[in-house]
Amino acid sequence: MAEEGAEDQVLLDYVEEADDTEIAETEAPKQKDRGYVDVHSSGFRDFLLKPELMKAVADCGFEHPSPVQHECIPQAILGDDLICQAKSGTGKTAVFVIATLQQIDTAPAEDEVVVLVMCHTRELAFQIQTEYKRFCKYLPKVRSHVFFGGIPIKQDRNVLSGDEKPHIVIGTPGRIQVLANEKSLKLDKVKHFVLDECDHLLDNTDMRADVQAIYMKTPRSGRQVMLLSATFSKESRKVSKMFTHNALEIFIDNEEKLKLEGLQQYYCQREEAQKNSKLLELLDSLEFNQVIIFVKSTQRCQALTKLLVDQNFPAIEIHGGMNQPERIKKFTEFKDFKHRILVSTDVLARGIDIERVNIVFNYDLPEIRGKRASTATDEEKSKHGTDMYLHRVARAGRFGTKGLSITFVATSEDADILQAVQERYEYEIKQLVDGDSIEQSSYMNV
Ligand code: ADP
Ligand code: MG
Repeated sequence: MAEEGAEDQVLLDYVEEADDTEIAETEAPKQKDRGYVDVHSSGFRDFLLKPELMKAVADCGFEHPSPVQHECIPQAILGDDLICQAKSGTGKTAVFVIATLQQIDTAPAEDEVVVLVMCHTRELAFQIQTEYKRFCKYLPKVRSHVFFGGIPIKQDRNVLSGDEKPHIVIGTPGRIQVLANEKSLKLDKVKHFVLDECDHLLDNTDMRADVQAIYMKTPRSGRQVMLLSATFSKESRKVSKMFTHNALEIFIDNEEKLKLEGLQQYYCQREEAQKNSKLLELLDSLEFNQVIIFVKSTQRCQALTKLLVDQNFPAIEIHGGMNQPERIKKFTEFKDFKHRILVSTDVLARGIDIERVNIVFNYDLPEIRGKRASTATDEEKSKHGTDMYLHRVARAGRFGTKGLSITFVATSEDADILQAVQERYEYEIKQLVDGDSIEQSSYMNV
């Protein structure tokens, strides 16, 4: 519910500029071994949710709300705007999923889109829809659909003109914008406008322009806006305020508080040419359920996956160079535990929630790539590197479970990023020296 003046203002200063960086997330798996997240002693019952929703919450195995849920859900279900920064893996998705489902009609009379959720990657959009499906288990008349690029748009048009029109739409800004512009997707009845990983959507000027254009198509009055992320830049914080009105604002002002309690973090000094042998050695010696290995480019992703497969490691790859159905297929298989090792670019660095991942490797440190690379200032590079480090390693140790991250440091730039990470979040990142072994019980529930 943004003020009109502010809204117009925010819409004026969007300058288009490209950013090739792509990123994403997934559906939530079964709960187990939840440990470190300081759950609140109150129960979900205290939120007075409708019975259909309460039953689904119980089926998901959620016993107590996490702190962010405890803080945000009571106001969010009343329709208040929300800007929410909370640590990775602490249950931000359920905040907006529960808040919107609580407010939606159990049996919607009209086939109108009332909830619009946008995020930066296709896999994350897909994961969010899976989360909606879980929570809609006892709301069979409420329909959701996910829209993103890379698949024929005709399919989307068919869904939007068919008999089973969605009430909840999740998508990436590019495809949503196209569908909204051609009017196959009508947004004039939207009551809840949600941006997940919102800083990425708002900092990336291309996406921000799309997001704003879409925002303008939703009604000004009676619209609830919810913006969530683990990281906020100064800019995205400012823009977030312009999108909202009297929002409940939860920011983590002391970035130290972004600490990931269950996670053991190590770094390992290796020349570029020695990374592979060390990686193979570690994969042999460490115990893991599932592993994600982050690399900085599509080419490196393909080459490293090939190397691992040649060495008989059950590895698959996900990167922007793959076609979309293949990406979602691989992603779902990995979530379903059909593969143990995933090599990925930053496409999966944010938001993705895969319960069994207990080790994350930074084979390469994150760096700004694409068109922005040549113009980015040192400060922007450092901010990007440290943000992405946090998002990547947080893929292990979700919702306070134990996990391990190992980062290869090959160059002085790598060392600078690692140094900046330690200073910014006050993380303790231990050096892994040859011959050292990592105690299994420190990173895995045994
Ligand atoms: P975030 O978006 O904050 O990074 P997610 O929403 O992806 O975190 O949640 C991380 C994991 O925690 C998911 O698997 C989710 O199902 C689980 N989770 C969320 N809330 C609870 C809860 N109250 N109790 C148990 N598990 C939860
Ligand atoms: Mg999330």
